[in-house]
Amino acid sequence: MRFKSTLWTITDSCPPPHCQFETECDEDLPQGEKVVTYKRTHRVCPIHRATGLTGQELYDRAAGENTRKSFALALASEISGLPRDRFTWGYDDQRLLHISPKEDTTPEQKKLVQNALDLQFGPSKTIVD
Ligand SMILES: [Zn+2]
Repeated sequence: MRFKSTLWTITDSCPPPHCQFETECDEDLPQGEKVVTYKRTHRVCPIHRATGLTGQELYDRAAGENTRKSFALALASEISGLPRDRFTWGYDDQRLLHISPKEDTTPEQKKLVQNALDLQFGPSKTIVD
């Protein structure tokens, strides 16, 4: 097994100075079977510092929010037919993810996207504005 370390700076869903983690993955595993594991924390953003979490729990929270954002945008794009960059997004003070289409979408399109996100992440975790 050859382990490769990677530094991951979460530049979009963490405010500066962005959370930065060292992760590790086994290079010999085929693509699709690679598992990225948390190794250590290099830097913590103010939002995640305020949670009081450390180590693996901190990584799970910060990485989870980033993954949720990426997945939600992909899902919103797929369902609405709009490209991913036609949505704005952000986390509010409660760390709820808000996604807003930049252009006109019908109430039906928004409802479809909202329903899909609720199914994926649980109700009221991600809000389509
Ligand atoms: Zn952070």
